[in-house]
Amino acid sequence: MESKQIYDMIIIGGGPGGYTAAIYAGRGGLSVLVLEQLGPGGQMATTQHIDNYPGFSEGADGFDLAEKMQNQAQQFGAVTKLEPVTELKLEGEIKEVVTLFGRYQGRTVAIATGASPRKLGLAEEDAFVGKGISYCATCDGMFYRGKTVAVIGGGNSAVEEALYLSRLCEKVYLVHRRDSLRADRAGALAVQKQENIEMVWNSVVTGLTGDPETGKLAALTLQDTQTGKTRPLACQGAFVSIGRVPNTQLVKGLLELDPQGYLVADETTRTSLPGVFAVGDVRKKPLRQIITAAADGAVAASFAQEYLNETK
Ligand code: NAP
Repeated sequence: MESKQIYDMIIIGGGPGGYTAAIYAGRGGLSVLVLEQLGPGGQMATTQHIDNYPGFSEGADGFDLAEKMQNQAQQFGAVTKLEPVTELKLEGEIKEVVTLFGRYQGRTVAIATGASPRKLGLAEEDAFVGKGISYCATCDGMFYRGKTVAVIGGGNSAVEEALYLSRLCEKVYLVHRRDSLRADRAGALAVQKQENIEMVWNSVVTGLTGDPETGKLAALTLQDTQTGKTRPLACQGAFVSIGRVPNTQLVKGLLELDPQGYLVADETTRTSLPGVFAVGDVRKKPLRQIITAAADGAVAASFAQEYLNETK
């Protein structure tokens, strides 16, 4: 369906960055459309306990926070539609956003599409998703209550996943490709203290083996990065937590990207095309957190307003 309205701002992605842009833009009197694929919150909605967002000394539930942000944006007039975006036309004064169900026009566009989990890259990986391979402990951890699982990775996310799973599972292996964690000291110490977490150093996953009867994951093949030797590690679940890749497929060839695929935009969030802004984890930046995504949203709304004033 084609919409006749020309929105002042179309925001692609309903995470904390997207919704903060919607709150600021709506409050500033702009007409705003947020296009989201699944539901509000993006990656934040899958985080059960956020304890570093200012003002929430008891911690915040990501899903709740997402709903609150969406409601707040709605109060300022922002409309949300759950429609996956398939194509963008970003040049010129009126930009066009095509979704699976419609076609929308906007004077400015904010790309707030976030980043997705990086995969191990094994041929059999996709076949095991939902059958032992997961990218989110808070989403799927409960399916492995009382079982043995592995977490792959050595950053803050892997440590958080391992700690979360250690409270549900009998045993958690934390498999890392080096001999020291990238995660902060506090996280590394917490992992050491947890009796049912065992570190597996200098190891990469080179294969996945299923149970012949159920087809579900039964073991990982681990290769020692020092000796090259391989061995099986029996586990019913494996949580892959090896970083993220930016969701910039839609804008490839349209906007400038850095070598890792992140959108190039400075602190003003302005991209290589006038009237197009990069918000949140999808933007090239030194720290990807809810608060930095939200900050981008506020900045993008402000510069969108400035752009609209200049072009009217
Ligand atoms: P990250 O910090 O980039 O860590 C990724 C980890 O995965 C690294 O240990 C890396 O190993 C490993 N890795 C990467 N590719 C791999 C591969 N192909 N095979 C095996 N291992 C691989 O990613 P993250 O943990 O997702 O965190 C992302 C950002 O969010 C970071 O800035 C992090 O600090 C932040 N974060 C903050 C919090 C918090 O403050 N509470 C919580 C979660 C995340 P190497 O170490 O060898 O490179």
